[in-house]
Amino acid sequence: MKLILIQPPIQDFYETKIRLQPIGLAYLKAAIKKFLPNITVKILDFHQNFGRKTISLPSELNYLREFYPCPDISPFCTFYHYYHFGADFKQAAEKIAQENPDIIGISILFSSYFREALTLAKEIKKVCPVPIIAGGSHVSAEPLSILQSPWIDFVIYGEGEKPLIELLKQFQGNKQFEQVPNLGFKKNNKFFLNPKKPNYPFEELPLPDLSDFSLNNYQFQKKPLYFITTSRGCPHQCTFCSAKSTFPIYKKRSVENILEEIKIRYKQGYRVFDFEDDNLTFFIDDMKKLCKLIIKEFPQNKIRFLAMNGISYLHLDNDLLLLMKKIGFTDLNLSLVSSDESVLRSCHRPHTVKKFTQIIQTGFKLKFNMTAYQILGLPHESISSMLTTLIFLARQPVLIGPSIFYLAPGSKIACQFSPLKEKDFFLARSSAMAIETKHFSREDIYSLFICTRIINFLKQFDINTSLNNLLLSHKTSNKRINIGLEILRKLIYEKKLHAYTGKQFVELKKFKWEIFYKLFSRLKFITSKTGQKIFI
Ligand code: SF4
Repeated sequence: MKLILIQPPIQDFYETKIRLQPIGLAYLKAAIKKFLPNITVKILDFHQNFGRKTISLPSELNYLREFYPCPDISPFCTFYHYYHFGADFKQAAEKIAQENPDIIGISILFSSYFREALTLAKEIKKVCPVPIIAGGSHVSAEPLSILQSPWIDFVIYGEGEKPLIELLKQFQGNKQFEQVPNLGFKKNNKFFLNPKKPNYPFEELPLPDLSDFSLNNYQFQKKPLYFITTSRGCPHQCTFCSAKSTFPIYKKRSVENILEEIKIRYKQGYRVFDFEDDNLTFFIDDMKKLCKLIIKEFPQNKIRFLAMNGISYLHLDNDLLLLMKKIGFTDLNLSLVSSDESVLRSCHRPHTVKKFTQIIQTGFKLKFNMTAYQILGLPHESISSMLTTLIFLARQPVLIGPSIFYLAPGSKIACQFSPLKEKDFFLARSSAMAIETKHFSREDIYSLFICTRIINFLKQFDINTSLNNLLLSHKTSNKRINIGLEILRKLIYEKKLHAYTGKQFVELKKFKWEIFYKLFSRLKFITSKTGQKIFI
């Protein structure tokens, strides 16, 4: 029996190119090799290394044309072209058919890309009519909606290893699909969702199998990149987050087991390790122990660590930050969400602003590159509280990562809205700016988003000066910086924001001057990553 596991292409304004290693599929492949060695498994990644092509904007996003009206090469650019990232659907289906699989698994991680997975499944069925299983975070949150697709035969929700292996056993045996945990299937035109059961214990799962890819297939700054997960899930329950729908219980691997994995991958040539945990440092003492063992085992400066999925600052302290710096962490991605404690409480987020400030101070002393994430447009936020957070972060030695809120299927907050439909899944992406409330409009969120770009632009100047001085007398040969300064001058004097297409300035009519004015009239100063200040 041959199983093909697929990472499908996606369509969007942008992609996060460095976070494509299909580690979930690699875990599945490794588990099948261990528990069902008679089955051949191959992973095909139809996203990475296939380039991109411009496609027309889907009709559901037509309302964005006014917000993203022209290509913009300025430092404050948002989006314009809509792309297909990855292989053409038909060509991918033909390639899959050439493999002669008996069964196919397709990964649907992000709700916004469920259509691409279903389109690929449809094309596959035309040339290779074998059963197709869908799994991944979106399927875990909305199993029935995916099972209802005519192109999908089975869905697996939650952790996938055990259900997939049990399903494959049933394929080889009596096809008693009702006995497979976490499985959705169809029978006599009816849909069935079996109860969930625990997966294999973490320590029984073999290391992800990346044998279908060369060392250089996934890189970070031209070095082989390896995604590593030390845990699954998160003990917290932030209402906007859907982590619980895939991993309801927080599970952690032993420090020794994690170290062993790093040693094996280091020997194979991997030099950059990205921890993709939802909550890497919850057991802070374990993380300290891991860092100490890494310091003993590996030569300094030979290995780099990242946590691109972010680190919960609640579970950091000064000692751990120092150890992380020593093992080769250079960057910290910290999710503040909001500096308004009442907003944090309403999201059931146990994090505090005081703790955030402590961590930023230590991170600054240790010379970490820090990016702090703010969510723009949480349903119970006001413009005033979003501005307060933005001002707070503008004054910290961090870059600001703005995340425009969307309803994540499977999150508690999504349950407060009427049941999500397929269009809502499609719109579950920041660039859609889909959520408006009586407290804020799409124009407000768009303007706040661009304001974060403006603040980040100003944070790159490593000088103590005033904004006025910077705009009037800063000299540089950097064309992009000059464009940014020119747009800022125009914004302040004309009260209008412009894009720059490379040939001309184009007014962005959806940008609200009042938002910029409110922000900059309260700001007083902006702190760069190195602690320099631009006074407003
Ligand atoms: S947002 Fe982060 S801290 Fe909150 S539940 Fe999700 S993973 Fe955990």
